[in-house]
Amino acid sequence: MAKEELECSFCGRKKPETNLLIAGLDAHICDRCIEQAHGIVLEESKDTSSQELEGELMLKKPQEIKAFLDEYVIGQEYTKKVMSVAVYNHYKRLLQPNNEDEIEIQKSNIVMVGQTGTGKTLIAKTIAKMLNVPLAIVDATVLTEAGYVGEDVESILTRLLQSADYNLEKAQRGIVFIDEIDKIARKSDNPSITRDVSGEGVQQALLKLLEGTVVNVPPKGGRKHPDQKFIEVNTEHILFIAGGAFDGIERHIGKRMNMQAMGFSASKSDNVVDSDNLLKYIIPKDLKDFGLIPEIIGRLPVLTHMNPLDSGTLRAILTEPKNAIIKQYIKLFAMDDIQFTITDGALEYLVEKAIEYKLGARGLRSLCEAVLTDAMFELPSTTEKELEVTRSYAEGKLNKSTLKKLKAVS
Ligand code: ADP
Repeated sequence: MAKEELECSFCGRKKPETNLLIAGLDAHICDRCIEQAHGIVLEESKDTSSQELEGELMLKKPQEIKAFLDEYVIGQEYTKKVMSVAVYNHYKRLLQPNNEDEIEIQKSNIVMVGQTGTGKTLIAKTIAKMLNVPLAIVDATVLTEAGYVGEDVESILTRLLQSADYNLEKAQRGIVFIDEIDKIARKSDNPSITRDVSGEGVQQALLKLLEGTVVNVPPKGGRKHPDQKFIEVNTEHILFIAGGAFDGIERHIGKRMNMQAMGFSASKSDNVVDSDNLLKYIIPKDLKDFGLIPEIIGRLPVLTHMNPLDSGTLRAILTEPKNAIIKQYIKLFAMDDIQFTITDGALEYLVEKAIEYKLGARGLRSLCEAVLTDAMFELPSTTEKELEVTRSYAEGKLNKSTLKKLKAVS
């Protein structure tokens, strides 16, 4: 007797017409129907996830955003406030109902100017964490114009897709942090000089992305996308935050302010200038004088600055943020039942060294490592249950360490 031919219980295709037929209790399903069903599931979950996202986002008011930032980022009050408002407005724009009154809220992309290690990346990371949106951190120095050796600007979106685990919906509401934006400044004031591969060309390429456009993005590795070579990503709702040290921009600010001071409107009281921190007077024109093209500046309308970290701030960074470095060591030692304490004197010493070595906040971590490595190596194998780091203990360890050599180099 001929064997009864199996068929898909959903579409009726006979087994030979399918690539795969999977058996259930009293039914079968073919590969095509599985794929279709999968599509439906994805579509459904997309709807609910975007609703969830909207619900989540609406909850955060600027003051709440700022309060969250306060838990992780010490000081930088002005920037935290500006960022909170910009982020709030950005997500309000994203959630606005269909535009009936023709008032279009423009994107509030942000540019942060400040020395390295002052917390620019940290702020971007913290905001992404709070909003639970994907974040891509990219370095502008690796970007080149299409066709040249280096990464195309589209690679920025590949990173965002990867960080969103290829959930397009999520990626399109994510945050991109472009670090070292100052490094793609035009090198010369004369735009007609030979083409500037890594500078102005990249700025031009970035323009569209910043403003909002649909970009064909190569998914590059990662998950399989059998038939798709490109994923279309709409950047309209992606928040771009650019950061850079803009070394030497103080010169432009100073020059401009001097010129203003000579103007007729200058009164004596206007002339009290904090010359140690000229950055706080930065205006978009200074970015232009530095070498960013006006179109880029226009698409990064929120401009803010980071203050240099003084010793008080560095000291607070060691112990106060939610995941402060010292808190992390306490936790690490506690896992071995070791009670770790550090005296005020030792903390002050670490701050002094960070300043002396010009390592900023980033250096605090390496200094702690240098001081604590021996203890972390030895103590877990002993019966010692306490470690108190004093100033002289820290001095002793640091004098032995290779970090000391850093000083000679810097
Ligand atoms: P930037 O992006 O400005 O170069 P980062 O944000 O990468 O600097 O800072 C480097 C590290 O220094 C951070 O991971 C953080 O541990 C610490 N740090 C810097 N600034 C602050 C700050 N204001 N508050 C808390 N930690 C900070």
